[in-house]
Amino acid sequence: MQVISSPEQVQSFLLRQKQNGQTIGVVPTMGALHQGHLSLVQRARQESTLVVATIFVNPTQFGPGEDFEQYPRTLQDDLQQCEQAGADLVFTPKTDEMYGADAQTFVRVTELTQRLEGAHRPTHFEGVTTIVAKLFNITVPTIACFGQKDYQQQLIIRQMVKDLNFGVKIVTCPIIREADGLALSSRNRYLSETERNRALVLNRALRNAGQQAEGGVSPAQIAVEMQRRIHDEEGVELEYAVVADERTLQPVCEDTDSAVALVAARVGKTRLIDNAILRFPSTP
Ligand code: AMP
Repeated sequence: MQVISSPEQVQSFLLRQKQNGQTIGVVPTMGALHQGHLSLVQRARQESTLVVATIFVNPTQFGPGEDFEQYPRTLQDDLQQCEQAGADLVFTPKTDEMYGADAQTFVRVTELTQRLEGAHRPTHFEGVTTIVAKLFNITVPTIACFGQKDYQQQLIIRQMVKDLNFGVKIVTCPIIREADGLALSSRNRYLSETERNRALVLNRALRNAGQQAEGGVSPAQIAVEMQRRIHDEEGVELEYAVVADERTLQPVCEDTDSAVALVAARVGKTRLIDNAILRFPSTP
């Protein structure tokens, strides 16, 4: 497995590989890797002949007062895990190699970014789409794998790819969870044992939402019940819990076959998100 930090070197190497007929599968990450990230590398391995993971804690997707400085950086461990999961190349750029001092170009998706995560983290998605666009230009992927864990993010990236003709196939991979249901996240390591137990309410609320949907409870009622459960958990501060259209993220109020339930909450100082697809009984 190669590890390269120079964008120019990675780009010229991968362009050559692509010309030689390789299909390139890219997995963008911020490091502090866990089984969720590795499942994306494994998926890329299945779907492409050359697998590239990128590790870059991207400053532009953190807002003021967020955890950019504290974000866990575990590069040596990450590299070992990438190799075991089947990566051929890991791209580990430095911040000043990705953002020149005179950088003045940003990529913004206008509508999907307004709600949910975007409402709570107003500059976040512009940072995400800008870095992902840059990573795509550098790594020239045939496919790129993203996690359903960041549901809104993968929708926004799909929109960007379509709008800007990137010609990359986006693959969305299932959420990997701990045995007790907690969605894996690099930020879980901030949680104390008590907080970790409290955080389980997110998955419990989503699982209950799934059961209610199957039982024919309305989307609006399901949202209210998720909000109640999360709000009532001690030490957990609800940011949102909604039942939304899977493509537009607009709230779903009427009968539908399926929808996505999305939740965000703070557990102590740690902000967590999770989601689940809901299936409703088909209406006669
Ligand atoms: P991050 O390093 O947090 O930016 O995440 C990099 C990629 O891993 C994103 O596409 C995430 O959606 C994905 N990811 C993070 N956590 C999980 C998880 N528990 N299961 C599946 N994918 C995940």
